[in-house]
Amino acid sequence: MMKKTVLIFMIATGIMSCGDKKSTEASSQSSPADDNFNYVVEQFADLQILRYQVPGFDELNLQQKELIYYLNQAASEGRDILFDQNGKYNLAIRRTLEAVYLNYKGDTASTDYKNFVVYLKRVWFSNGIHHHYATDKFQPGFSKEFFTNAVKSIDASMLPLKDGQTPDELLSIITPVMFDPKIDAKRVNQTEGQDLIVSSASNYYSGVTQAEAEKFYAEMKNPSDSTPVSYGLNSRLVKENGKIVEKIWKSGSLYGSAIDKIIGWLQKAESVAENDQQKKVIATLIKFYQTGDLKDFDEYSILWVKDDSRVDFINGFIETYGDPLGMKAGWEAMVNFKNLEATKRTETISANAQWFEDHSPVDVRFKKEKVKGVSAKVITATMLAGDCYPSTPIGINLPNSNWIRAHHGSKSVTIENITEAYDKAAQGNGFAEEFYWSDKEIKLIKDYGFLTDNMHTDLHECLGHGSGKLLPGTDPDALKAYGATIEEARADLFGLYYVADPKMVELGLLPNDSAYRAEYYKYMTNGLMTQLCRIEPGKQVEEAHMRNRGLIANWVLEKGAPDNVAEFKQRDGKTFVVVNDYAKLRELFGKLLAEIQRIKSEGDYNAAKTLVENYGVKVDPKLHAEVLQRYQKLNIAPYKGFINPVYEVVTDKNGKITDIKVSYSEGYAEQMLRYSKDHSWLPTWNN
Ligand code: ZN
Repeated sequence: MMKKTVLIFMIATGIMSCGDKKSTEASSQSSPADDNFNYVVEQFADLQILRYQVPGFDELNLQQKELIYYLNQAASEGRDILFDQNGKYNLAIRRTLEAVYLNYKGDTASTDYKNFVVYLKRVWFSNGIHHHYATDKFQPGFSKEFFTNAVKSIDASMLPLKDGQTPDELLSIITPVMFDPKIDAKRVNQTEGQDLIVSSASNYYSGVTQAEAEKFYAEMKNPSDSTPVSYGLNSRLVKENGKIVEKIWKSGSLYGSAIDKIIGWLQKAESVAENDQQKKVIATLIKFYQTGDLKDFDEYSILWVKDDSRVDFINGFIETYGDPLGMKAGWEAMVNFKNLEATKRTETISANAQWFEDHSPVDVRFKKEKVKGVSAKVITATMLAGDCYPSTPIGINLPNSNWIRAHHGSKSVTIENITEAYDKAAQGNGFAEEFYWSDKEIKLIKDYGFLTDNMHTDLHECLGHGSGKLLPGTDPDALKAYGATIEEARADLFGLYYVADPKMVELGLLPNDSAYRAEYYKYMTNGLMTQLCRIEPGKQVEEAHMRNRGLIANWVLEKGAPDNVAEFKQRDGKTFVVVNDYAKLRELFGKLLAEIQRIKSEGDYNAAKTLVENYGVKVDPKLHAEVLQRYQKLNIAPYKGFINPVYEVVTDKNGKITDIKVSYSEGYAEQMLRYSKDHSWLPTWNN
């Protein structure tokens, strides 16, 4: 169950960082991705920059392309908002760094300068001076002296100085913020017992304590309101003359200069909307940006959930992970269109939900008489922005408002051109050659890994979580701390069992009856071995998805031992996983699925605890050390992000748009500098 963007994003950064989740071969698309495409742009610090393709864009009609272009532009205009939300000096720092980068005449071969460039690239990546994922401040790898001299060496008119400010005064403000590890150490502090607002560097509150903020919103809320707005979502909370007030992010107020640009492009988009529903969605979002009224945002969200047009987008204040109190939302945007071919896949699975439920290996007492599959659409992203850029989710499930989800449903999407880029970029990184047993397994995964992995995810999401039922009287929380792991194992096993079913070939979802082996081999290698690369030495497995994978792989390894279903083998002092009997492996997955469903349906806490503790938590220290050492040698960056394609308008001699062209040649720094030049609307100071 992936409720919010960030969960999926964590899976993306986590799993992908090991290069172990996704592999080869796209599913059929209307215009196939170019195989010679260069996905990897560059690598620095702990980051790898990738680019993605937009297959199918050329087949859209002109109106859809134009709509996408305007929405892309709207997405590009809000970048500064997130920088300012992430820290009040981020814009001043970014603009100073960029001024030096563009105008520095000193020695660019020096270590200080090279580290300065890495720092600027990291600031671009994180939309600020804190790590995008860990949220702690990263330290410059160059000296204060170098920085001071570099800033003072360039023409002062290039610097983001406020009226009357000298370069020295600018430096006296930003240098401590950049260099002193004690100042603004963490963007989002979640440490129990501290004032989470005062100790967090994010710019969502100013001059107020956590207690004051909590009191302010507690008084605003009405407990009997069954359709509450998302209080505090679109404002900074500040103390002015001793009084606490919200500064709303809207046209004519805070961030208004960027928001007005967004509105301008949204108005153009509205004029070429595909249909009336979509027109209403865009118009209501514009209204919300103008009024800042959260009731307008709810109205927009409800319209958005119901809009099933080909082109779709997110643009606004959405996810609240950057606020330690989880109320205020970072600005983000993503534009996309539905991948019709791939969406058929999820629709087919959902349409057959009852067949899968009826034929599953679980006890009939635990089956649903009537089951409904969730239909997740598969999309192709055309533009990533704000909190989706460059670090990107691979799936999204919105809106976040609980009552809207309950009354009106939610939209669940997987972004396949992004997962495909992750997958393609991981090819040739040496992971498969290092960790897979032989050429046979490497080829198997190259041929079918991407396809069967997507299929497994679809089965997990569309059917797995929704299958089965609790016995009457079973407390849904009976499994307590083991509940999440058991639930993920249940969904994973449902997917593993069915990805090997002849029904998949019959429904046209898989090309033949042995393709599933790619997913089985990858799953076993990951669960038994390679996922350990994300665990620090001496630690055990904590995260629920990882525990679930370890549990499943270790359990079937042990239970299959008498028949030698799968085993560890050694070669040249290295450990490998080998699967000897795929059919028996499937039987074991079915057996474990039946047991896990029983545990869930009956609320058997002790059985859950025993399974998770025995198979999902423990780490073999020797194997762990070996995996870490082998992984480190591959020099794979733990975090990835994406730059966007460039969209160019083609017009006839009367200025009428005749086409939109996509190109992929822009570099990372080039793109960041272009955005800073063309899409930067907020003042440096006093936002
Ligand atoms: Zn799940």
